[in-house]
Amino acid sequence: FSSHQPINSTEKACMLRPLEAPFRYLFGPGPSNVPPRILAAGGRPIIGHMHSEMFGIMNDIKKGIQYAFQTSNNMTLAMSGSGHTAMECAVFNIVEPGESVLVAINGIWGERVAEIAERMGAKVHTLFKTPGGHFTNAEIEQALAKHKPVLFFLAHGESSSGLVHPVDGVGDICHKYNCLLLVDSVASLGAAPLLMDQQNIDILYTGSQKALNAPPGTAPISFSERACHKMFNRKTKPVSYLLDMTHLSNYWGNDGKPERKYHHTGPVSGFFALRESLAILAEMGLENSWSHHTEVAEYLWKGLEDLGLKLFIKDKDLRLPSVTTIAIPEGYDWKELLAYIMKHHQIEFTGGLGPSVGMVLRIGLMGYNCNKANAAMALAALEDALKQCRKSKA
Ligand code: PMP
Repeated sequence: FSSHQPINSTEKACMLRPLEAPFRYLFGPGPSNVPPRILAAGGRPIIGHMHSEMFGIMNDIKKGIQYAFQTSNNMTLAMSGSGHTAMECAVFNIVEPGESVLVAINGIWGERVAEIAERMGAKVHTLFKTPGGHFTNAEIEQALAKHKPVLFFLAHGESSSGLVHPVDGVGDICHKYNCLLLVDSVASLGAAPLLMDQQNIDILYTGSQKALNAPPGTAPISFSERACHKMFNRKTKPVSYLLDMTHLSNYWGNDGKPERKYHHTGPVSGFFALRESLAILAEMGLENSWSHHTEVAEYLWKGLEDLGLKLFIKDKDLRLPSVTTIAIPEGYDWKELLAYIMKHHQIEFTGGLGPSVGMVLRIGLMGYNCNKANAAMALAALEDALKQCRKSKA
């Protein structure tokens, strides 16, 4: 060993320090705090990703997602990765290079999907509104007729602006133009009503770390028969091997083949936690979860208005119950407000994201975090910060 002397001693010294992860109230747009029951599920001894018990757990997860999404789609599974993995999976598998895609951009999520589609060689067309805006079905239909896309993207819960987008009728319009409807419910699932089959959504995805309260890193997704027909009759292979639904559908036992083959090593602990979070949602019931989020959000909205703050989304019916956006009050530096609240109250709120940076503060109360006691705590912290952080208006 004499000629192989380790030289990286500062790196080693760093690793000899214990892990430090403080407790924080995660009242931003995600991740949300994870309840002990889900943490405990994720902390169970792992088993092999190809063990029959694991396949059983994955089958349960599929059922849990079918319930949460309100779909009977066979092609339902969880991605090994965050919400972006599901976004890429949807676009990469449905769209072939050179095909047209229409993306509704009214915040960061449309921007992201447009970039993902552009990178894989799609022709990207956009419908645009500034953050807080939404699209009428007539506007959507006009753009579909003009661009004839194979896929239309809409964010149901636009977490950068705090808007919940109407979805009724959009699927039917898409199908009239032979287009598939892709909907992002990362920030809205469990918080605002969404019914995949009844609303004719072709591809729906969400994330584990918002109202589901599982740790970040897994992302439920489901494909309609129409979507399966398009993605399994491609001329070209999707650009990503990892996200290729031909392989993933086999890994999840959705392709009807007798043998499930190794494709990648799924996040076993993440799947345990996801199963538990889907079980909690099923125990509570979707309708209860939706009404509970609305009730707590209304309590928060009233408290914010009582503090003299203005809600960014004026129309109550278009406000996302899980993520509330507040117009940055005049005479304040938003970064200072957030830093004060983190330092003195151990609470995370956030500023805007992408095009809404500098426009809004965001408070998220989702799933386990969604209760009036937490809303009252958030309001008290904000009231304190508003007293302490006012800039002189000289
Ligand atoms: N879509 C929406 C609406 C989101 O809020 C987020 C996460 N903030 C994402 C997609 C991306 O999810 P992830 O960060 O898990 O990749």
